[in-house]
Amino acid sequence: MFLNNSTFILKSFFVVLVAIQAKAFEAPSHIRVKLVRDESKNQLSKPEIQKVELDDYVAGVVSKEMPLSWPLEALKAQAVVARNFALYRMNSGSGREFDVRNDIWDQVYHPTQNLKAHRAVSEVEGVFLKDSEGKLIQTFFHADCGGQTVPAWAVWEGTKSFGVATDPFCQNRKSNKWKHSVAREEIIKLTNPDEFTRPSVRAQKFKSKWVSLVGLSVNQIRKTFGWDVVRSHPEKVEITMDSIDFEGQGYGHGVGLCQWGAMELAKRGYNFKQILSHYYPRAFIEDRSTRLASNSK
Ligand SMILES: [Zn+2]
Repeated sequence: MFLNNSTFILKSFFVVLVAIQAKAFEAPSHIRVKLVRDESKNQLSKPEIQKVELDDYVAGVVSKEMPLSWPLEALKAQAVVARNFALYRMNSGSGREFDVRNDIWDQVYHPTQNLKAHRAVSEVEGVFLKDSEGKLIQTFFHADCGGQTVPAWAVWEGTKSFGVATDPFCQNRKSNKWKHSVAREEIIKLTNPDEFTRPSVRAQKFKSKWVSLVGLSVNQIRKTFGWDVVRSHPEKVEITMDSIDFEGQGYGHGVGLCQWGAMELAKRGYNFKQILSHYYPRAFIEDRSTRLASNSK
């Protein structure tokens, strides 16, 4: 294991646990969810907007976004992230008649009565991830980073990053390696042919530089060739006479919480705050429940 307890202690030096001194942040009690998918039937449904209690919504997201058989601390980390993401969306709603969609464009949601999902949500009541100015951050998450998370701006230009993590915890999943080869002509159709004036072999790991190699963003590449084909941020791009070969490990955009890594951390005994500190190293954890608990002593 590369990352030991002392690394976490060092990291927590930077991740300040903030107890609210002034007016406590009050999360809204309800959220407006646009139902565009029927998750029980896994198909598109007639779009409809429902007002849902926030805690019920978060439990419903946890149950769809993470297997409920996973350790509780991983589910709790997911619950904090899901609530934060929803509240961030609510704050930046810009006059829409709904706050979030119930599909992957926001967070997958379906109502649940599952006790473990609801327990995970209630045990992280009052815990938020914020920036240095005390604003809720956009808590991106993904399935599997393949060993290294990427900054948000490398995926969505101009988006603020809250740090990246080296992640040995999801790397045991050998099944997450992928490769995809694209004919030169196919990429030249999409981008500047000058990029490919001479055959060469180049590789770039995890930095955004590889994007300029082919003149396309990660999202353009993944959207064009399939989110399930170019499964994550490529680790290696190889240009040959005939093709551009992408190779990587993991699944998803690679920003923020890595779910498989979170599961492994929880299995090894780390709690949800340590998990969150690992994947959002430049965010601040605000814990109102800690403040209330210490006040009651
Ligand atoms: Zn990972």
